[in-house]
Amino acid sequence: MTTLTPASTAFIDALPKVELHVHLVGSASVPTVLELARRHPGGPVPTDEAALRDFYVFRDFPHFAEVYLAVSDLVRDPEDVATLVVGIGRDLAAQRARYVELTVTPYSHQRVGMPMPAITEALDRAVVEARAAYGIEIAYIFDIPAEFGDDAARGTLAHALEHPPQTLVGFGIGGIEQVRAKHRDSFRDAFRAARAAGLRSLPHAGEMSGPETIWEALEHYGAERIGHGINCLADPRLVAHLRETQIPLEVCPTSNVCTGQVASLAEHPLPRLLAEGLFVTLNSDDPPMFGTTLTREYQVAAEVLGLDRDGLAAVARNAVLASSLDEAGRRTILDEIDAVVAAH
Ligand SMILES: [Zn+2]
Repeated sequence: MTTLTPASTAFIDALPKVELHVHLVGSASVPTVLELARRHPGGPVPTDEAALRDFYVFRDFPHFAEVYLAVSDLVRDPEDVATLVVGIGRDLAAQRARYVELTVTPYSHQRVGMPMPAITEALDRAVVEARAAYGIEIAYIFDIPAEFGDDAARGTLAHALEHPPQTLVGFGIGGIEQVRAKHRDSFRDAFRAARAAGLRSLPHAGEMSGPETIWEALEHYGAERIGHGINCLADPRLVAHLRETQIPLEVCPTSNVCTGQVASLAEHPLPRLLAEGLFVTLNSDDPPMFGTTLTREYQVAAEVLGLDRDGLAAVARNAVLASSLDEAGRRTILDEIDAVVAAH
Protein backbone atom coordinates (compact mmCIF):
# COMPACT_ATOMS: atom_id res chain seq x y z
CA MET A 1 0.00 0.00 0.00
CA THR A 2 1.27 3.44 -0.88
CA THR A 3 0.26 6.55 0.99
CA LEU A 4 -1.14 9.19 -1.30
CA THR A 5 0.83 12.41 -1.49
CA PRO A 6 -1.13 15.67 -1.24
CA ALA A 7 -0.46 16.14 -4.97
CA SER A 8 -2.03 12.76 -5.81
CA THR A 9 -5.02 13.53 -3.62
CA ALA A 10 -5.43 16.87 -5.39
CA PHE A 11 -5.16 15.15 -8.77
CA ILE A 12 -7.91 12.66 -7.89
CA ASP A 13 -10.13 15.41 -6.48
CA ALA A 14 -9.69 17.49 -9.62
CA LEU A 15 -10.26 14.65 -12.08
CA PRO A 16 -13.63 15.06 -13.86
CA LYS A 17 -15.59 11.86 -13.30
CA VAL A 18 -18.40 9.81 -14.74
CA GLU A 19 -20.30 7.38 -12.51
CA LEU A 20 -21.90 4.43 -14.31
CA HIS A 21 -22.87 2.11 -11.47
CA VAL A 22 -24.71 3.58 -8.51
CA HIS A 23 -28.13 2.74 -7.08
CA LEU A 24 -30.80 5.24 -6.11
CA VAL A 25 -31.59 4.03 -2.59
CA GLY A 26 -28.04 2.85 -1.88
CA SER A 27 -26.66 6.26 -2.78
CA ALA A 28 -28.68 8.07 -0.12
CA SER A 29 -26.21 9.97 2.04
CA VAL A 30 -26.74 11.23 5.60
CA PRO A 31 -28.13 14.69 4.69
CA THR A 32 -30.59 13.11 2.25
CA VAL A 33 -31.73 10.41 4.68
CA LEU A 34 -32.07 12.99 7.44
CA GLU A 35 -34.48 14.90 5.22
CA LEU A 36 -36.50 11.74 4.51
CA ALA A 37 -36.46 10.54 8.15
CA ARG A 38 -37.76 13.92 9.34
CA ARG A 39 -40.43 13.84 6.63
CA HIS A 40 -41.56 10.37 7.81
CA PRO A 41 -40.67 10.14 11.54
CA GLY A 42 -41.43 7.25 13.88
CA GLY A 43 -39.40 4.51 12.15
CA PRO A 44 -36.05 2.92 13.00
CA VAL A 45 -33.98 5.55 11.16
CA PRO A 46 -32.60 8.19 13.57
CA THR A 47 -33.75 11.78 12.93
CA ASP A 48 -30.74 13.13 14.83
CA GLU A 49 -27.68 13.68 12.65
CA ALA A 50 -25.04 12.21 14.98
CA ALA A 51 -27.17 9.13 15.65
CA LEU A 52 -27.82 8.72 11.94
CA ARG A 53 -24.10 8.90 11.14
CA ASP A 54 -23.59 6.17 13.71
CA PHE A 55 -26.39 4.03 12.23
CA TYR A 56 -24.75 4.46 8.82
CA VAL A 57 -21.31 3.13 9.78
CA PHE A 58 -20.74 -0.05 7.78
CA ARG A 59 -20.30 -3.03 10.14
CA ASP A 60 -21.08 -6.12 8.13
CA PHE A 61 -23.39 -7.25 5.35
CA PRO A 62 -26.43 -8.02 7.57
CA HIS A 63 -26.20 -4.52 9.06
CA PHE A 64 -25.95 -3.04 5.54
CA ALA A 65 -29.12 -4.96 4.58
CA GLU A 66 -30.85 -3.57 7.68
CA VAL A 67 -29.84 0.01 6.83
CA TYR A 68 -30.85 -0.48 3.20
CA LEU A 69 -34.32 -1.76 4.13
CA ALA A 70 -34.86 0.99 6.71
CA VAL A 71 -33.94 3.68 4.17
CA SER A 72 -36.06 2.00 1.47
CA ASP A 73 -39.00 2.21 3.85
CA LEU A 74 -38.62 6.02 3.89
CA VAL A 75 -39.19 6.19 0.14
CA ARG A 76 -42.98 6.39 0.15
CA ASP A 77 -43.95 9.16 -2.26
CA PRO A 78 -42.66 10.42 -5.61
CA GLU A 79 -41.36 13.46 -3.72
CA ASP A 80 -39.04 11.11 -1.78
CA VAL A 81 -37.73 9.65 -5.06
CA ALA A 82 -36.94 13.17 -6.29
CA THR A 83 -35.15 13.96 -3.01
CA LEU A 84 -32.92 10.90 -3.47
CA VAL A 85 -32.01 11.83 -7.04
CA VAL A 86 -31.19 15.45 -6.22
CA GLY A 87 -29.16 14.22 -3.22
CA ILE A 88 -26.97 11.93 -5.34
CA GLY A 89 -26.58 14.78 -7.84
CA ARG A 90 -25.33 17.07 -5.07
CA ASP A 91 -22.99 14.45 -3.58
CA LEU A 92 -21.49 13.42 -6.93
CA ALA A 93 -21.12 16.98 -8.23
CA ALA A 94 -19.06 17.77 -5.11
CA GLN A 95 -16.64 15.05 -6.30
CA ARG A 96 -16.38 16.62 -9.75
CA ALA A 97 -18.64 14.03 -11.31
CA ARG A 98 -20.04 15.49 -14.51
CA TYR A 99 -22.49 12.79 -15.48
CA VAL A 100 -24.10 9.81 -13.79
CA GLU A 101 -26.13 6.86 -15.01
CA LEU A 102 -28.26 6.25 -11.96
CA THR A 103 -29.86 2.84 -11.50
CA VAL A 104 -33.46 3.03 -10.36
CA THR A 105 -35.52 -0.02 -9.40
CA PRO A 106 -38.99 1.26 -10.27
CA TYR A 107 -40.63 -2.02 -9.25
CA SER A 108 -39.81 -1.31 -5.59
CA HIS A 109 -41.63 2.05 -5.83
CA GLN A 110 -44.55 0.52 -7.74
CA ARG A 111 -44.93 -2.05 -4.96
CA VAL A 112 -45.56 0.62 -2.32
CA GLY A 113 -48.32 2.08 -4.43
CA MET A 114 -46.64 4.83 -6.43
CA PRO A 115 -48.19 5.14 -9.90
CA MET A 116 -45.71 4.88 -12.78
CA PRO A 117 -46.47 8.33 -14.26
CA ALA A 118 -45.91 9.99 -10.86
CA ILE A 119 -42.55 8.21 -10.40
CA THR A 120 -41.49 9.29 -13.88
CA GLU A 121 -42.58 12.87 -13.26
CA ALA A 122 -40.44 12.93 -10.07
CA LEU A 123 -37.42 11.47 -11.90
CA ASP A 124 -37.71 14.05 -14.71
CA ARG A 125 -38.16 16.93 -12.27
CA ALA A 126 -35.09 15.85 -10.29
CA VAL A 127 -32.89 15.85 -13.43
CA VAL A 128 -33.81 19.48 -14.08
CA GLU A 129 -33.32 20.43 -10.43
CA ALA A 130 -29.91 18.73 -10.10
CA ARG A 131 -28.71 20.29 -13.35
CA ALA A 132 -29.76 23.77 -12.23
CA ALA A 133 -28.40 23.46 -8.69
CA TYR A 134 -25.23 21.40 -9.23
CA GLY A 135 -24.46 21.37 -12.94
CA ILE A 136 -24.54 17.58 -13.19
CA GLU A 137 -26.29 15.54 -15.89
CA ILE A 138 -28.32 12.55 -14.73
CA ALA A 139 -29.46 9.67 -16.90
CA TYR A 140 -31.37 6.62 -15.69
CA ILE A 141 -31.12 2.86 -15.92
CA PHE A 142 -34.20 0.84 -14.87
CA ASP A 143 -33.28 -2.50 -13.36
CA ILE A 144 -35.21 -5.65 -12.52
CA PRO A 145 -34.76 -6.89 -8.93
CA ALA A 146 -34.16 -10.54 -9.87
CA GLU A 147 -35.46 -12.07 -6.65
CA PHE A 148 -38.96 -10.75 -7.44
CA GLY A 149 -39.00 -12.82 -10.62
CA ASP A 150 -41.46 -12.63 -13.49
CA ASP A 151 -43.64 -9.97 -11.91
CA ALA A 152 -40.64 -7.65 -11.48
CA ALA A 153 -39.60 -8.21 -15.10
CA ARG A 154 -43.11 -7.28 -16.26
CA GLY A 155 -43.42 -4.22 -13.98
CA THR A 156 -39.97 -2.88 -14.85
CA LEU A 157 -40.45 -3.36 -18.58
CA ALA A 158 -43.93 -1.80 -18.56
CA HIS A 159 -42.55 1.24 -16.78
CA ALA A 160 -39.63 1.55 -19.20
CA LEU A 161 -41.79 1.23 -22.30
CA GLU A 162 -44.97 3.04 -21.27
CA HIS A 163 -43.71 5.76 -18.93
CA PRO A 164 -39.99 6.27 -19.59
CA PRO A 165 -38.31 9.26 -17.97
CA GLN A 166 -36.84 11.60 -20.57
CA THR A 167 -33.26 10.56 -19.80
CA LEU A 168 -33.81 6.80 -19.54
CA VAL A 169 -30.87 5.21 -21.38
CA GLY A 170 -30.60 1.66 -20.13
CA PHE A 171 -32.24 -1.49 -18.88
CA GLY A 172 -30.62 -3.73 -16.27
CA ILE A 173 -31.03 -6.46 -13.72
CA GLY A 174 -29.70 -6.61 -10.17
CA GLY A 175 -30.35 -8.35 -6.88
CA ILE A 176 -29.63 -12.00 -6.21
CA GLU A 177 -27.89 -13.47 -9.27
CA GLN A 178 -28.46 -17.08 -8.26
CA VAL A 179 -32.24 -16.94 -8.91
CA ARG A 180 -31.94 -15.89 -12.55
CA ALA A 181 -32.11 -19.34 -14.12
CA LYS A 182 -35.53 -19.85 -12.50
CA HIS A 183 -36.99 -16.87 -14.40
CA ARG A 184 -34.86 -17.21 -17.49
CA ASP A 185 -37.56 -16.75 -20.11
CA SER A 186 -39.17 -13.65 -18.66
CA PHE A 187 -35.80 -11.97 -18.07
CA ARG A 188 -34.68 -12.72 -21.63
CA ASP A 189 -38.00 -11.49 -23.03
CA ALA A 190 -37.82 -8.27 -21.01
CA PHE A 191 -34.30 -7.49 -22.27
CA ARG A 192 -35.31 -8.26 -25.85
CA ALA A 193 -38.25 -5.85 -25.65
CA ALA A 194 -36.24 -3.13 -23.89
CA ARG A 195 -33.48 -3.31 -26.49
CA ALA A 196 -36.03 -3.24 -29.32
CA ALA A 197 -37.26 0.03 -27.78
CA GLY A 198 -33.76 1.48 -28.04
CA LEU A 199 -32.53 1.00 -24.48
CA ARG A 200 -28.99 -0.19 -23.83
CA SER A 201 -28.58 -3.52 -22.05
CA LEU A 202 -26.66 -2.92 -18.80
CA PRO A 203 -27.08 -5.92 -16.50
CA HIS A 204 -25.26 -6.89 -13.32
CA ALA A 205 -23.44 -10.21 -13.75
CA GLY A 206 -20.49 -12.10 -12.32
CA GLU A 207 -20.60 -10.27 -9.01
CA MET A 208 -21.91 -12.96 -6.65
CA SER A 209 -22.02 -15.81 -9.15
CA GLY A 210 -19.58 -17.21 -11.66
CA PRO A 211 -18.85 -16.66 -15.35
CA GLU A 212 -22.11 -18.35 -16.39
CA THR A 213 -24.19 -15.26 -15.51
CA ILE A 214 -21.83 -13.12 -17.61
CA TRP A 215 -22.24 -15.47 -20.58
CA GLU A 216 -26.02 -15.36 -20.09
CA ALA A 217 -25.88 -11.54 -19.99
CA LEU A 218 -23.82 -11.42 -23.19
CA GLU A 219 -25.62 -14.09 -25.17
CA HIS A 220 -29.20 -13.59 -24.07
CA TYR A 221 -29.50 -10.05 -22.69
CA GLY A 222 -27.27 -8.49 -25.35
CA ALA A 223 -25.17 -6.83 -22.61
CA GLU A 224 -23.27 -3.70 -23.69
CA ARG A 225 -21.62 -3.34 -20.28
CA ILE A 226 -21.37 -5.67 -17.32
CA GLY A 227 -22.17 -4.54 -13.79
CA HIS A 228 -19.19 -5.84 -11.74
CA GLY A 229 -18.17 -8.83 -13.90
CA ILE A 230 -15.16 -9.51 -11.67
CA ASN A 231 -15.77 -13.27 -11.67
CA CYS A 232 -15.01 -13.47 -15.38
CA LEU A 233 -11.46 -14.31 -14.35
CA ALA A 234 -12.50 -17.87 -13.54
CA ASP A 235 -13.05 -18.55 -17.28
CA PRO A 236 -10.14 -17.90 -19.67
CA ARG A 237 -12.41 -18.17 -22.73
CA LEU A 238 -14.65 -15.45 -21.28
CA VAL A 239 -11.65 -13.25 -20.46
CA ALA A 240 -10.48 -13.61 -24.07
CA HIS A 241 -13.96 -12.72 -25.31
CA LEU A 242 -14.19 -9.63 -23.08
CA ARG A 243 -10.72 -8.54 -24.19
CA GLU A 244 -11.62 -8.93 -27.84
CA THR A 245 -14.97 -7.15 -27.63
CA GLN A 246 -13.80 -4.58 -25.05
CA ILE A 247 -17.16 -4.78 -23.30
CA PRO A 248 -16.80 -2.45 -20.33
CA LEU A 249 -16.87 -3.77 -16.77
CA GLU A 250 -18.31 -1.56 -14.03
CA VAL A 251 -15.92 -2.40 -11.22
CA CYS A 252 -16.81 -1.39 -7.63
CA PRO A 253 -13.92 -2.46 -5.33
CA THR A 254 -15.21 -1.37 -1.91
CA SER A 255 -18.65 -2.83 -2.60
CA ASN A 256 -17.12 -6.22 -3.43
CA VAL A 257 -15.31 -6.28 -0.07
CA CYS A 258 -18.39 -5.11 1.88
CA THR A 259 -20.61 -7.78 0.36
CA GLY A 260 -17.98 -10.45 1.00
CA GLN A 261 -17.26 -11.25 -2.66
CA VAL A 262 -13.60 -10.30 -2.21
CA ALA A 263 -11.73 -10.85 1.09
CA SER A 264 -9.95 -7.49 1.23
CA LEU A 265 -9.20 -4.46 -0.92
CA ALA A 266 -5.61 -5.64 -1.28
CA GLU A 267 -6.90 -8.86 -2.86
CA HIS A 268 -9.28 -7.11 -5.26
CA PRO A 269 -8.88 -8.42 -8.82
CA LEU A 270 -8.88 -4.96 -10.48
CA PRO A 271 -5.12 -5.12 -11.26
CA ARG A 272 -5.61 -8.55 -12.86
CA LEU A 273 -8.53 -7.31 -14.94
CA LEU A 274 -6.33 -4.48 -16.23
CA ALA A 275 -3.39 -6.80 -16.82
CA GLU A 276 -5.69 -9.00 -18.92
CA GLY A 277 -6.39 -6.02 -21.16
CA LEU A 278 -10.06 -5.70 -20.16
CA PHE A 279 -12.05 -2.48 -20.34
CA VAL A 280 -12.38 -1.32 -16.72
CA THR A 281 -14.34 1.54 -15.17
CA LEU A 282 -14.42 2.52 -11.48
CA ASN A 283 -17.72 2.97 -9.66
CA SER A 284 -19.18 3.19 -6.16
CA ASP A 285 -22.42 1.06 -6.19
CA ASP A 286 -24.02 2.00 -2.80
CA PRO A 287 -21.46 4.56 -1.62
CA PRO A 288 -22.59 5.95 1.77
CA MET A 289 -23.84 2.57 2.93
CA PHE A 290 -20.46 1.01 2.11
CA GLY A 291 -18.59 3.94 3.63
CA THR A 292 -17.18 5.07 0.30
CA THR A 293 -17.51 7.70 -2.43
CA LEU A 294 -16.58 7.71 -6.11
CA THR A 295 -13.49 9.76 -5.21
CA ARG A 296 -12.62 7.20 -2.55
CA GLU A 297 -12.72 4.41 -5.17
CA TYR A 298 -10.09 6.31 -7.20
CA GLN A 299 -8.02 6.70 -4.03
CA VAL A 300 -8.31 2.97 -3.36
CA ALA A 301 -7.21 2.26 -6.92
CA ALA A 302 -4.13 4.43 -6.35
CA GLU A 303 -3.29 3.56 -2.75
CA VAL A 304 -4.12 -0.12 -2.57
CA LEU A 305 -4.28 -1.35 -6.16
CA GLY A 306 -1.25 0.44 -7.56
CA LEU A 307 -2.71 2.66 -10.30
CA ASP A 308 -0.55 5.65 -11.16
CA ARG A 309 -1.89 8.92 -12.57
CA ASP A 310 -1.97 7.63 -16.11
CA GLY A 311 -3.85 4.58 -14.90
CA LEU A 312 -6.37 6.72 -13.02
CA ALA A 313 -6.88 9.04 -15.99
CA ALA A 314 -7.33 6.01 -18.25
CA VAL A 315 -10.14 4.53 -16.13
CA ALA A 316 -11.74 7.99 -15.87
CA ARG A 317 -11.67 8.24 -19.69
CA ASN A 318 -13.02 4.70 -19.95
CA ALA A 319 -16.12 5.70 -17.99
CA VAL A 320 -16.77 8.54 -20.44
CA LEU A 321 -16.33 6.21 -23.42
CA ALA A 322 -18.54 3.50 -21.88
CA SER A 323 -21.30 5.98 -21.08
CA SER A 324 -24.42 6.71 -23.09
CA LEU A 325 -23.39 10.34 -23.64
CA ASP A 326 -23.46 11.61 -27.21
CA GLU A 327 -20.27 12.52 -29.03
CA ALA A 328 -20.31 16.18 -27.95
CA GLY A 329 -20.99 15.27 -24.32
CA ARG A 330 -18.09 12.81 -24.32
CA ARG A 331 -15.73 15.28 -25.98
CA THR A 332 -16.42 17.94 -23.35
CA ILE A 333 -15.55 15.66 -20.41
CA LEU A 334 -12.57 14.05 -22.18
CA ASP A 335 -11.16 17.53 -22.84
CA GLU A 336 -11.63 18.41 -19.17
CA ILE A 337 -9.77 15.25 -18.15
CA ASP A 338 -6.93 16.09 -20.54
CA ALA A 339 -6.70 19.58 -19.09
CA VAL A 340 -6.41 18.25 -15.53
CA VAL A 341 -3.77 15.70 -16.59
CA ALA A 342 -1.78 18.46 -18.31
CA ALA A 343 -2.07 20.78 -15.32
CA HIS A 344 -0.78 18.19 -12.82
ZN1 LIG B 1 -24.98 -2.65 -8.28
